[in-house]
Amino acid sequence: MKTIIEPFKIKMVEQLRFTTRSERERLLEAASYNPFLLHSDDVLIDLLTDSGTTAMSAKQWSALMDGDEAYAGSRSYYRFEEVVRDITGFKHIIPTHQGRAAEKILFSLVGGPGRIIPNNTHFDTTRANIEVSGAQAIDLPNALGLVPEMVADFKGNMDTELLEELILGEGPGRIPVIMLTVTNNTGGGQPVSMANIRAVSEIAHAYGIPFFLDACRFAENAMFIKLREPGYESVPVKSIVQEMFSYADGCTMSAKKDGLVNTGGWLAMNDDTLAMQARNVLIVTEGFTTYGGLARRDLEAIARGLEEVLDESYLAYRLRSVQYLGDALELGGVPIVRPTGGHAVYLDAKRFVPHIPPEEYPGQAIVCALYLHAGIRTVEIGSVMFGKYDAAGRLVPASMELVRLAIPRRVYTQSHIDYIAEAVTEVYNDRAMLSGLSIAYEAPVLRHFTAQFEPIGVLHSAASGR
Ligand SMILES: *Cc1c(COP(=O)(O)O)cnc(C)c1O
Repeated sequence: MKTIIEPFKIKMVEQLRFTTRSERERLLEAASYNPFLLHSDDVLIDLLTDSGTTAMSAKQWSALMDGDEAYAGSRSYYRFEEVVRDITGFKHIIPTHQGRAAEKILFSLVGGPGRIIPNNTHFDTTRANIEVSGAQAIDLPNALGLVPEMVADFKGNMDTELLEELILGEGPGRIPVIMLTVTNNTGGGQPVSMANIRAVSEIAHAYGIPFFLDACRFAENAMFIKLREPGYESVPVKSIVQEMFSYADGCTMSAKKDGLVNTGGWLAMNDDTLAMQARNVLIVTEGFTTYGGLARRDLEAIARGLEEVLDESYLAYRLRSVQYLGDALELGGVPIVRPTGGHAVYLDAKRFVPHIPPEEYPGQAIVCALYLHAGIRTVEIGSVMFGKYDAAGRLVPASMELVRLAIPRRVYTQSHIDYIAEAVTEVYNDRAMLSGLSIAYEAPVLRHFTAQFEPIGVLHSAASGR
């Protein structure tokens, strides 16, 4: 059987609202050309993020009803802890309301001025939490990962030579933890190989540095290992996941990704002292140690979601459905990051609109055009998100200019994906008409969430939208 079908059927539906091109022009202007500021009712297909946008299963919804809402010692916490420990093997499992809360706690304890925290590529909230603590966040992607058009199996890998150079150059004492993000979200949703996880772990431990996974998409990463890494073809995904975590001393996790829930996360570790300190911060900022800012029923949904995400028919469908969109775009000549990652297809804005310079935010121009043309909401991952200014106030662009089409888990059908592929291809065919934007307002950190833009010239003047 060649066709991989959705391994579920639909019991409940949510109505979509269609808008016209002229309505969208008005709505986008009112949102200052930043789709984060649109009302989601005005979005037809929402590819802003795969985070917390999962459709939960009937079993998860019924698990919610079974939650034990006790403030302390909830049965739901112990079920959550048991499932997370079974998968990760870590001694201390500390629930948080989402991933960045786990990051905030970790880096407020191990970060601070003079400290350096390397990663294959830091996610935006990870980088922000490190920088807010006063520490420095360093990205060490391997060279292949920076070439969007190059096809390779594990473009998410960390460059271990650069890691050793960094440790020797700065001294291990300045590096309180080495992180590795699986899959590498910012680098195109590309997987990290087991060999790389093992190598980073060995280097970290040789210098006495703890090694943590940013584990948001651990299951998608494990499925890539099964499909691509020699020796793992017939190993069950759950065993692959357990091996991945076995090399680490802890992890941060956003359950809004591979937890298959709408909110939740955790911080886990083996170190007793660090865990005690983390729980003390948790109680001040999130909640008691057996709920961490969540309703206890949410912990039930996470426990069930973690079991479902390891279902290999789900993971095969998940990776295949993302690849299906990538294949359709490539057929239309649209430049994308190759190969497609686990949770998203990334358009390569530098090749999509080469006439728009980084200072005019080519990715944001495409994001706006996709909304105007077809009501599709996407997000720029380029110089809007990661650009910096030099001393003279000039933009230091990001290394890549990408647009992410993140696919929510178990939400859209194949015909939705066909519509997306058609719409993106139509905008691409009209690309000469696109022009850039300037920033009219920006916040000091994580500016992409609230930035306001002004178009330079006419944004996208195709005769008609969809
Ligand atoms: C989403 C994400 C986070 C942050 O998690 P939130 O739940 O959004 O706070 C951290 N790292 C990576 C790689 C992510 O994808």
